[in-house]
Amino acid sequence: MNGFDSSSSPRLPRGLTVPDLKAALEAHRPYGLDCKCGRPINSDADWAGHVDGVIAGLPGVAVTQLPEAQADPEYGDPYWPVELEGETYPGKLRIDYGYRSGPRIALIGIPTPLRVADVPNLTAALLSAAAAVVLSEGETR
Ligand SMILES: [Zn+2]
Repeated sequence: MNGFDSSSSPRLPRGLTVPDLKAALEAHRPYGLDCKCGRPINSDADWAGHVDGVIAGLPGVAVTQLPEAQADPEYGDPYWPVELEGETYPGKLRIDYGYRSGPRIALIGIPTPLRVADVPNLTAALLSAAAAVVLSEGETR
């Protein structure tokens, strides 16, 4: 479970729904020695590359590796480092639980306006931090 399916994180915005993904994968399932779409499959690696291409080719989809939280050596709380172009030190995301309305994500050392080149790293870190909040809320229910 990655914290982003429809049953565990209904509040996270998403462009691709689980039914969209299921429909795409059903159209590209193994069918004999070929894919259901008619493409021949020559090896496990070929199959993996085909399915990866199908997922990455879905409209509005970006495939990324979400970063893991790191433990702050001084305070022990988790944070997500964000590598920034041209900056010596990474920015950080921290979860701030001090709000009555619920947890918020603080951006530390991340300049705005944001460089376009820094958007992918920040976005992946935001998604990872948001998933951590959703998962921790699920553990406390
Ligand atoms: Zn296919």
